[in-house]
Amino acid sequence: MTQKVVVVGAGPVGSLAALYAAVRGFEVEVYELRSDLRDPNTTPLNFSKSINLALSERGIHSLRKTGLSDLADAVLAGTIPMHGRMIHTRKNGDYVRQPQLYDARGRSLLAMDRTGLNKTLLDHLEAMPNVKLIFNHKLVGVDFRKKIAWFEHRTKSIEEQGDEFEIEFDLMIGADGAHSAVRYHLMKFVPMSFQQEYIDKLWCQFHVPPAPNGDFRIPPNYLHIWPQDESMFIALPNLDKTFTSTLFLTRSGFEELDASGKVVEYFEQKFPGVVPDLVPEDELRKQYTSNQHLPLISIKCTPYHYGDSGVILGDAAHAMVPFYGQGMNAGLEDVRVLFDFIDQYPNDRSTALTKYTEERTPDAQTINDLALGNYREMASDVKKPLYLLRKWIEEQLYLYVPSLGWATQYSRVTFSNMRYSEVQQAAQRQAKILNSVVGLALASVIGSGLWFARAGGIHQAKMGVLRTVCVVAQRVQKLVES
Ligand code: FAD
Repeated sequence: MTQKVVVVGAGPVGSLAALYAAVRGFEVEVYELRSDLRDPNTTPLNFSKSINLALSERGIHSLRKTGLSDLADAVLAGTIPMHGRMIHTRKNGDYVRQPQLYDARGRSLLAMDRTGLNKTLLDHLEAMPNVKLIFNHKLVGVDFRKKIAWFEHRTKSIEEQGDEFEIEFDLMIGADGAHSAVRYHLMKFVPMSFQQEYIDKLWCQFHVPPAPNGDFRIPPNYLHIWPQDESMFIALPNLDKTFTSTLFLTRSGFEELDASGKVVEYFEQKFPGVVPDLVPEDELRKQYTSNQHLPLISIKCTPYHYGDSGVILGDAAHAMVPFYGQGMNAGLEDVRVLFDFIDQYPNDRSTALTKYTEERTPDAQTINDLALGNYREMASDVKKPLYLLRKWIEEQLYLYVPSLGWATQYSRVTFSNMRYSEVQQAAQRQAKILNSVVGLALASVIGSGLWFARAGGIHQAKMGVLRTVCVVAQRVQKLVES
């Protein structure tokens, strides 16, 4: 008999999971709390989601692996490549913009509209005969042992309680976001470790309209960053020549701005080139006041499953802060990894789900940590010469000594499908080598310079340093190869 898969949540992760299940011939029912976002009369998406986001290799690969030939291309058609970061700062009082490519081999992040991606996934789901999309339904209870669940039909608004009814399922996939009801009910059936953290940064979005000539106001093929250590402003391009920008600031920073009302002055001081070139003063004030100031949550938990009947994916399993641009990409990758195991153990779903938890827990927890750490890289390090030097050295090794398999952590996270936990191990290995190499090189060069200077004057010192550099370079090659 055909098995019934119930997916809770029709966000990007739940919709993709439903597609994977449908392609494999399961009977699929998708329950979503909100109304259909493709319906023009629907209430707009809750503003707790950013409007656009960065799609990268893991997400694209998971879309391609669905088995639907046109899905990835349909999604990619609505994207704008971002080849690098554009850093906006002041140097000696002057406003400067400095591009930094993401990848020495020219690979790019893709900016895309979150709703557009979700719509494409829903359109593909609707075309599958074995899928039922059920909107305005809230999951309110699950018994994973008996494989029954309870939903409420929200007829008037998502807040108002509606009629409750019971359904049966063989497998429930919970993709209902950071405040997951599926996870809440799963906890009653498994001893789940759970950790939740709100970081001291809130975010607020701003809309940057097109220029008066209808074009983009700043170069579109970049993720624009105004790094200010404690705060950061970023802008991602949209197809309609607008940008969606986000201010990240501490809670106390927002409170001070609320109290003083000096938003424009703050932007003028911290984020050069924004007011009035990108957003007029009045508009900035208006958007600052009317757009929500939202918290950022980081969630880790494990296990992700119960027996053969329940599993959680995406933000429900590992909501993370947005500084690596990986939350959704990791969620889409969850789907591919889960169904790889379901394919591997077609008659033993309990083992498939166990393997999924075992593989995915260290990976998801790693990217959660990397995402927390990446705020520093975006808001501070990108301005520092040492960071740029290190990036340059790593890129030269990556480009010119491919046999070493060297790559930056960023490029492995963003442009590969290597497991996140392995990315971190490789980065730690590389950091150790680089640190010892730089130490060795500095000590040798300074030492030899001093020795030759004492022995034979300045010319001898120069020649000596040169010789030492060659010897160190050879040693480095050997060290790296080992
Ligand atoms: P969600 O998108 O939260 O979807 C969950 C769905 O479940 C919703 O539709 C909800 O209505 C529904 N639901 C909830 N409860 C119930 C219930 N009880 N019953 C039925 N349905 C329910 N990620 C990236 O990869 N790249 C980026 O550049 C990026 N930028 C970001 C910027 C910001 C400011 C933020 C906050 C996040 C960003 N993310 C980014 C993260 C990304 O938004 C999330 O990881 C992604 O949306 C998670 O998708 P999901 O489908 O798991 O959950």
